[in-house]
Amino acid sequence: MLSFFPTLYEDELLYSWFARYHNRSCNISPKATMRDLFGTPSMLAVPDMPTHLNKVYDRTKHFDMPDVNKWIEKHTFYLYYTTFAKQDVKKKVYDAMRDGKGQGSIHMLTGVMASKITEFHYFRYCPCCVSEDIKRYGETYWHLSHQLPSVFVCPKHERLLLSSYVPFRGTNKHTYTGASTSILLSHKETSEYTHKTMKHLVYLTNESMKMIHNRYRLTWEVIQKAYKYLLQQMGFANVNGKVDQHTLGEQFQHFYGDELLTLLQSPINRDSESCWLKSITRKHRKAFHPIVGLK
Ligand SMILES: [Zn+2]
Repeated sequence: MLSFFPTLYEDELLYSWFARYHNRSCNISPKATMRDLFGTPSMLAVPDMPTHLNKVYDRTKHFDMPDVNKWIEKHTFYLYYTTFAKQDVKKKVYDAMRDGKGQGSIHMLTGVMASKITEFHYFRYCPCCVSEDIKRYGETYWHLSHQLPSVFVCPKHERLLLSSYVPFRGTNKHTYTGASTSILLSHKETSEYTHKTMKHLVYLTNESMKMIHNRYRLTWEVIQKAYKYLLQQMGFANVNGKVDQHTLGEQFQHFYGDELLTLLQSPINRDSESCWLKSITRKHRKAFHPIVGLK
């Protein structure tokens, strides 16, 4: 049983919370922190979809904190990666995160590994949020919303996020690295984008927020029907559901623009049969990365 534990902040990644525990515990070895949290030093510091969270809860529940369900839903990538997934996949992922059952297949199940989209290499942050965090809590932390692959702007301040120098998946997989101000002060350069791209990025951010706030309550079947209906409404599919791939690809590319599609690692290749836009608008049983589902 632990003798203290920090307060979990709004929109904070569990990873960040555990990092703040490590800093305050004065544990020299990251493995000592792992033992404190999970009861074993061999656990990995996972930023997006951590597993065996019940073990941490058992060691900390006497501090009267939110339950494991709230941890998983509000402080990890769980809802983000499972919003467009089937019910059985959601359950498997949830069980792995809570109890560690079948944990090896989490990323495969959600289609993340199957996707060609690579994640951000470094934790990201918003300087305005950092100032507000410090004013409010006396410290800052890694926000869940700032790390999502489809989020490039801060949902609160609508400015481009900055990249820190802290790797999202560090070379030492057993270490939690927090968002201390000294780390945040130096940051990588951020690009500038056109007004059109920025407008889409803000839209994507807002849609991503709906995912992590559980406001998309759609079944797999409803999602498929909705795509079909919308494609027909827009004149991209006939009454039988056959999609005019050429026109769809052309219009899609025109609407979003190559700058945004490249930024999202989702360029349209109209000549390729394996282009993601063709795949997702055909009958399929695959899981797709949320970036693809959101557009
Ligand atoms: Zn912000």
